[in-house]
Amino acid sequence: MPRLEKKDRLKLPHVPVPKRPPQDRITDFREVSLTYTPEQAVAEASRCLECGKAPCEAACPLHNRIREWLALTMDGKFVEAAHLSRATNPMPEICGRICPQDRLCEGACTIGVKREPVAIGAIEKFINECAIAQEGLPLPDAAPATGLRVGVVGAGPAGLACAEELARRGHHVTVYERQPLPGGLLRYGIPGFKLEKHVVDRRIRYLERLGVEFVTGTRVGDDIAVEEMRAYFHAVFIASGATTPKRPALPGSDLPGVEDALPFLARNAPDDVDAAARDDLRGQRVVVLGGGDTAMDCLRTARRLGAAEVVCLYRRDEANMPGSRREVQAARDEGVVFRWLTAPVRFLGDGGRLRGVECIRMELGEPDEEGRRRPVPVEGSSFEVPADLAILAFGFDGSPPLASDGPALRRDGTYVADENGATTVPGIFAGGDVVRGPDLVVTALRDGRRAAEAIDRYLRRRLTDPLGAATV
Ligand SMILES: Cc1cc2nc3c(=O)[nH]c(=O)nc-3n(C[C@H](O)[C@H](O)[C@H](O)COP(=O)(O)OP(=O)(O)OC[C@H]3O[C@@H](n4cnc5c(N)ncnc54)[C@H](O)[C@@H]3O)c2cc1C
Ligand code: SF4
Repeated sequence: MPRLEKKDRLKLPHVPVPKRPPQDRITDFREVSLTYTPEQAVAEASRCLECGKAPCEAACPLHNRIREWLALTMDGKFVEAAHLSRATNPMPEICGRICPQDRLCEGACTIGVKREPVAIGAIEKFINECAIAQEGLPLPDAAPATGLRVGVVGAGPAGLACAEELARRGHHVTVYERQPLPGGLLRYGIPGFKLEKHVVDRRIRYLERLGVEFVTGTRVGDDIAVEEMRAYFHAVFIASGATTPKRPALPGSDLPGVEDALPFLARNAPDDVDAAARDDLRGQRVVVLGGGDTAMDCLRTARRLGAAEVVCLYRRDEANMPGSRREVQAARDEGVVFRWLTAPVRFLGDGGRLRGVECIRMELGEPDEEGRRRPVPVEGSSFEVPADLAILAFGFDGSPPLASDGPALRRDGTYVADENGATTVPGIFAGGDVVRGPDLVVTALRDGRRAAEAIDRYLRRRLTDPLGAATV
């Protein structure tokens, strides 16, 4: 089909990403967003203006070659487009589903200034699902085996991206994971309604075929020491995430009925857990404390578990909350109620169980160091919000493995590391949330890839110059 003039492309209507209606989607944990049809993908990709500077590519943490794969999609060359997307992204079919595109590529799209931006994420998902349906996930040409061993701590996106890149370069990679299955928060945090788990399993099987070895149910620092790993492997990459919950000292937080966000999500939110093993919240009143994306996932999970009332309590207003706008809207569409400018003071019990949360009204004061207006309590304004279950989603600190002589850490449990992931201990690299604090899948993937390149340089230097290995 001949390409339209740019001014005519501006007149093309946006093709909304098809979504399951709220009354249907809250009955299960399957994905809410459906995949474009080929016709829809071509129509939406055809809206791209192929801007000279491509702000979308600059805003994508992986600097994906978005313009080029959108152009291939316009021409119906879906498999070629997918191949190109994989050149920069180790998990494009996953990023297409769960990146907060409104804050990244789509947030920078030129058309988005006045109209809906091009649905880059949905097209990334479509081209990759299309290619996988046709040819699976073919293995790349493998480099000859180097005989060098790398140990990875943690099978989340950072660890998996690092393992893939190192395996492709001929190194033998062993990934240690404390959970029964690999995937990190892709499996045990992000709910099935955003990312179905067969999509994660498919990637793990690909990595196994590539030669990556997984040792699951093994906690580094407990079942195997970091020092032992350092002695056996030629290099170590630590990607153990940031999942240690922040817990403000609120009276009553040890009452039954008060729970941290992650165990609640891990138990309930994957789409492939046995329905009988999930919590039954029918008839219950659930409050979620916090305003980030984890809070949104808990709220939407509670709706799917049948809760009668699901309320988000957040101490700032809607404009100043950290969660993605799309996530807030999705939660609202599913019947979640938001109470802004509301902060918890204590948990109230009755007969040894949670009865409610005492809260206080807040107002917004001066901006803090991040530019968000600081919430200030309104004196004498306390009130009670009744609740049978209160879920705490106040954020997370780093979760490094225990090590007596490990790399330097910051006070929040994250490692000090340079832009290549090199820590203060030669031969130990780190990346993903355990370095940057809670962030995104796409940045964890970028860290994993970058660290793999640095580890490869370190190992090759060791081969040729054992004394010079400390410099990467
Ligand atoms: C509820 C929730 C929803 C989210 N939703 C999104 C989203 O929609 N989009 C997005 O981009 N990001 C989202 N994120 C953030 C994203 O999941 C993380 O930024 C990303 O997973 C970080 O990757 P990682 O590999 O650094 O760590 P993780 O994914 O946390 O993986 C770390 C792995 O290390 C393992 N591990 C830890 N300690 C040890 C040890 N001592 N020994 C062995 N193994 C160990 C853990 O079990 C885990 O498997 C979400 C986060 C949460 C909590
Ligand atoms: S990886 Fe994420 S930010 Fe980059 S193009 Fe894909 S959806 Fe956008």
